[in-house]
Amino acid sequence: MKVLIINAGSSSIKYQLFEMPAEKVLAKGLLERIGEEISQLSHSFDGSTYKAEQKVSDHTAGMKLIIDTLGGPKTGVIKDVSEIFAVGHRVVHGGEEFTDSIIISEKVIASIEKFADLAPLHNPPNLTGIRASQKSLPHALQVACFDTAFHTSIPMTAYIYALPYEIYEKYRVRRYGFHGTSHSYVAKRAAKLLGASPQDFNIITCHLGNGCSLTAVKAGKSVDTSMGLTPLEGVAMGTRSGDFDPAILFYLSEKGYSISELNTMCNKKSGLLGISGVSNDMRNLRDQARSGNERAKLALDIFCYRIKKYIGTYTAVLGRLDAVVFTGGIGENAADIRELSCDGLEQIGIEIDPAANEKTNHGEGPISSSKSRVKVYIIPTNEELAIAQDTFRLAE
Ligand code: ADP
Repeated sequence: MKVLIINAGSSSIKYQLFEMPAEKVLAKGLLERIGEEISQLSHSFDGSTYKAEQKVSDHTAGMKLIIDTLGGPKTGVIKDVSEIFAVGHRVVHGGEEFTDSIIISEKVIASIEKFADLAPLHNPPNLTGIRASQKSLPHALQVACFDTAFHTSIPMTAYIYALPYEIYEKYRVRRYGFHGTSHSYVAKRAAKLLGASPQDFNIITCHLGNGCSLTAVKAGKSVDTSMGLTPLEGVAMGTRSGDFDPAILFYLSEKGYSISELNTMCNKKSGLLGISGVSNDMRNLRDQARSGNERAKLALDIFCYRIKKYIGTYTAVLGRLDAVVFTGGIGENAADIRELSCDGLEQIGIEIDPAANEKTNHGEGPISSSKSRVKVYIIPTNEELAIAQDTFRLAE
């Protein structure tokens, strides 16, 4: 069965075509700059990459180009579009309603529209992708997979903020959490690699990319996660602040900052970029820190300190901790960040083996020392595969 995975952004569509259940990637690509003068398509298949530039006015035209490319004489991996049995869409916010992936109906679409209020930058383009896919592939089953779904198991004690309760009742202001597809995927994979039953396995998953979040997973279920109502809460990120005293916002607003300026500051100008004044990209920052830039070094130290604090907190939340997993661009590739984030955690049973940490960098496997009671792993995330697995499950 061929399953197409779509991740639609405001001006881009990322896609992967899988043969399921073999989990084989037949083709993948990215269409960028939709709606601009010239749009760019990069399409990889059979070990080669095809690039094209042309005007693509909207997502519907974008989906058509992608499907034509998937079936094209020189770029194609299918003979006919009817071979695509199902399409799995990444949708960021599923509110409290969607606890699992779901087959898309008009009712589901209405709910995704409703939750756009909570994810104004993500849900509307996700929905545009769904509409475009329905038009281009009317025969195919359309499935929505939500970033929030995995976290709907979080108990009330962890998801209710200590604000007046009516704020939750009236506006549904609560912790939702994100990166759920990634946390769920690496938690399952870790249980498999360790030969453990997910029902008897407690793990902290650290997704460290441009956005970063940690999740406490107990018996296969998310019981707490660091991101909140929005992806701003939690550890420090590339450009997001993570946790800070909310009174800072009142203080700065009295100093003349507008809500919109504060929003931009916290989401786009803080985190690694804000502290260092240099870059939000870990590779640049590390180069700067190594060549003596003190603020770049401070940014790295704060980044790792916050991760360590959350690992400690979630160890307390879980009671018994079996494993810690690092994933995402930073988690998979930055040995120094993993080491510093776990430095001094021997008392709670976490000890990294520096040689294994270096050797397994960019790969998959254990990086804890033989003395470490808690296993520490690098597991590359694969959100597209996780969506393909869910879509296939529902299609079956
Ligand atoms: P996104 O959240 O956008 O999917 P990624 O998961 O790709 O982001 O992570 C991007 C981050 O990973 C960037 O900060 C980048 O510098 C970092 N990164 C990628 N490769 C390396 C590397 N080899 N060493 C250190 N950091 C890396």
